[in-house]
Amino acid sequence: MREITDRERTEESLELIWVLREEGHDDLAHFRANSDDADNEQLLGVLARDGLITVEGNTVLLTEAGHARARGLVRRQRLAERLFTDVFEMPDEKVLDDACKVEHILSEELTESVCTFLGHPPLCPHGKPIPRGECCKKFRIDVVPVVTRLSDFEVGASGKITFIVSTDPSRINRLNSLGIAAGSVIKYIQKTPSCILQIDETTVALDPDIAKEIFLKKI
Ligand SMILES: [Zn+2]
Ligand SMILES: [Zn+2]
Repeated sequence: MREITDRERTEESLELIWVLREEGHDDLAHFRANSDDADNEQLLGVLARDGLITVEGNTVLLTEAGHARARGLVRRQRLAERLFTDVFEMPDEKVLDDACKVEHILSEELTESVCTFLGHPPLCPHGKPIPRGECCKKFRIDVVPVVTRLSDFEVGASGKITFIVSTDPSRINRLNSLGIAAGSVIKYIQKTPSCILQIDETTVALDPDIAKEIFLKKI
């Protein structure tokens, strides 16, 4: 197992406290039972010393600073889960694992970009609430994601392809040979029964499944 830093240790436990509280369990017994830290008592002491929690009787409470930090962590983890699940279509076990690493390294600016890119999603793939960020307030009126799948794109609109996600590399090559590549500008002509787009003077018909793998930005 990888060596865990003090910061990660602190962050993992703040996150655990947040999740337990969501489930209505803010007591020491649940914390001890769910924490996989090597020394829970020492850890609780460190968190209290750093002003992140207070322990009152059997209840663990996040201080204002602890709450703010836990909120940011949970937000980053759940946004990362959405990103990996929706965009990269990674299997669920892998998603949680990688999302846990990402939450410690995503900067605030990058987090806002990811949130905006995903259209400010309210819930993670497991149905748990994603704490809102500044970006979600700003774009409350216009919640159209920056980048959408071609399958969700508006018929008649033009867009620039941002990227193509496919599990089949030969499919990407085939699309590229049709002029469908990152950076190409297309017009979406028809959604059903087959998806038709226009690139320059050429019209191309695509399988609806492929339309889910193409991400583009409206222009
Ligand atoms: Zn989740
Ligand atoms: Zn947002």
